[in-house]
Amino acid sequence: MAKKLDEHQRKRYTRQLLLPSFGFDGQEQLAASTVLVLGVGGLGCAAAQYLCTAGVGRLILVDDDRVELSNLHRQVLHGEDDIGRLKVESADDSLRRLNPAAAIETVTARLDDVALLGKIKSSQLVLDCSDNLATRRQLNRLCFEAKTPLVSGAAIRFEGQIAVYPMTESAPCYECFSQRFGEQQLSCVESGVLAPLVGIVGSLQALEAIKLLSGVGTVPSGRLMLFDGAHSQWQSFTLEKLPGCTVCGGA
Ligand SMILES: [Zn+2]
Repeated sequence: MAKKLDEHQRKRYTRQLLLPSFGFDGQEQLAASTVLVLGVGGLGCAAAQYLCTAGVGRLILVDDDRVELSNLHRQVLHGEDDIGRLKVESADDSLRRLNPAAAIETVTARLDDVALLGKIKSSQLVLDCSDNLATRRQLNRLCFEAKTPLVSGAAIRFEGQIAVYPMTESAPCYECFSQRFGEQQLSCVESGVLAPLVGIVGSLQALEAIKLLSGVGTVPSGRLMLFDGAHSQWQSFTLEKLPGCTVCGGA
């Protein structure tokens, strides 16, 4: 049962409370929710700041990286004074300033399956803001096991992509997508990325997360949305469940 909003919260979130389909019920759902954000780089900074300011009650931030100068053009929760600090600690400071009421748990280790599954099970949903295939696959496998929805994002060069995996038995998972289409191993370390791309994709991850948590609107489950920032064009594809998928297709 979601908690009732106090006077301060009613004022803080008044522009969301005005939304007829969202209202008090949606806001109270957010306040009662925990979201796990894996990766506090470009995507994670953008997503976490909107989840936090929009009123998600609890965030679990997982990242073992430290802030570097070359991160700062796109990772907006970290500043030059934070260089050398753990990203989750820098992000924690920024998020507390944005919304002191948010409960933030930081994890500074790469978690094994047992530990990560525990964190996933204590969350209503998970945002994949990671930058490597091994982590994406681990997160997908464990979210399917926990039946916890996964909102996956990626951005490189001028291109962004986002997909929502609801982790129901009938829906495709990330592995269905990557086994069918292959997965590029490129990272922005060698390929570069334009700063607003991670903001666009991370903000969309936050949007889909808020819709999933509050039950508002339509979530594009099982669809892959691609954004070509160089020409400002969107494309959207339906993802099919892959027969025999090693994660979700075995049964
Ligand atoms: Zn699958």
